[in-house]
Amino acid sequence: ESSLAEDNSTNEVKSGSGFKGHAMLAPFTAGWQTTDLNPLVIEKSEGSYVYDTNGKKYLDALAGLWATALGGNEPRLVEAAITQLKKLPFYHSFWNRTTIPSLELAKELQEMFTARKMAKAFFVNSGSEANDTQVKLVWYYNNALGRPDKKKFIARAKSYHGSTLIAASLSGLPALHQKFDLPAPFVLHTDCPHYWRYHLPGETEEEFSTRLANNLEQLILKEGPETIAAFIAEPVMGAGGVIPPPSGYFEKIQAVVKKYDILFIADEVICAFGRLGTMFGCDKYNIKPDLVSLAKALSSAYLPIGAVLVCPEVSEVIHSQSNKLGSFSHGFTYSGHPVACAVAIETLKIYKERNIVDEVNKIAPRFQDGIKAFSDSPIIGEIRGTGLILGTEFVDNKSPNDPFPPEWGVGAYFGAQCEKHGMLVRIAGDNIMMSPPFIISPGEVDELINIYGKALKETEKKVQELKSQ
Ligand code: PMP
Repeated sequence: ESSLAEDNSTNEVKSGSGFKGHAMLAPFTAGWQTTDLNPLVIEKSEGSYVYDTNGKKYLDALAGLWATALGGNEPRLVEAAITQLKKLPFYHSFWNRTTIPSLELAKELQEMFTARKMAKAFFVNSGSEANDTQVKLVWYYNNALGRPDKKKFIARAKSYHGSTLIAASLSGLPALHQKFDLPAPFVLHTDCPHYWRYHLPGETEEEFSTRLANNLEQLILKEGPETIAAFIAEPVMGAGGVIPPPSGYFEKIQAVVKKYDILFIADEVICAFGRLGTMFGCDKYNIKPDLVSLAKALSSAYLPIGAVLVCPEVSEVIHSQSNKLGSFSHGFTYSGHPVACAVAIETLKIYKERNIVDEVNKIAPRFQDGIKAFSDSPIIGEIRGTGLILGTEFVDNKSPNDPFPPEWGVGAYFGAQCEKHGMLVRIAGDNIMMSPPFIISPGEVDELINIYGKALKETEKKVQELKSQ
């Protein structure tokens, strides 16, 4: 058993970082209170790679946190930040005062998003703030319309929408709720659309989607449609394990949502700007959202910025109401921060100039096919993804009903082997997630596949050993 504990730790590959027992309360980190916590400290980045304080090089297969779309050292983004910093490092956007970069970025986003007309962009600093803002916008909207009871939100099991109080409530991951007195009571969760894991025997993907849409409708009817304000969904679920929708899913879900006058919020924090091989996830799945959340690749993560896109129908109500009330009293000191906006504008310019969607589509098959070729592994249940996002789920007997014992730490072991071989992936239990930068080269994709293959072999061997004990 003690050897298991060792295998679960990744400390062996990060010797002597010199930051043992550091003073930071680290996000999403187990055991932060222990004095021997020894983090992997990243010091430098270059293209698709990052380097730790020992100079060890890692292929950044998660693009930071699904975010550094243009990789580690895009000089134009640095230049854009410096130019803006020299001219105007900060001014706010409250009380009808604002800055040119924030106005330009809002216009750019309004033009770029074509799945459905968007009238306005509200700026925030993160995906969590974007989703918290969504809730306030929707409540304000329904209050303005004289529908004070239409306040509940429906999200989905296994979704991730952030970690502030409300974003964590919307998220459908138990770890975000346990010990935090969440979710908030106005949040309901409906089915996770994961066909492989949840379909009934003999049920087709279409039938599965129909059943989920029916379940959603039943939930709405049970609660009372007059109490349900909005439905929120990631086009492809990210942190919940990379779960693309089954066929017909969004078509059927949108029909239900529309029928009961419920707003549709697309959480595009991971999916937007090319990740799925379309400019937005909504383009890929024919989603016509009323509201959209953006962050991450909006600035290629070089500076923190997020945005909420608001359709004309909602924005008109909000504007006419705030004219009556005096103001829409919501916002952050850094809403539309000029330097973050300048970097985002340059990021979007680069996406356009380089036809980033075409670039992603050129490289994606090499990535998808290369990793999916490992699907026959006896420890892999499913490999799923599209564009430049992929999830691998480890299970026994290739069955979603046969998880490995959590104490075996199969996913963690795989992650540690990747790290040993110079690659960083995201691990959540026995789910492995990858979302490399859009600029990843064919050679780097081959390296990624090669390391994945080596780590998989080692993990298969480990599972074999554990089984024979
Ligand atoms: N929504 C989605 C879909 C996300 O993946 C994330 C972050 N991974 C968030 C929201 C929250 O973003 P942030 O961490 O910037 O608050």
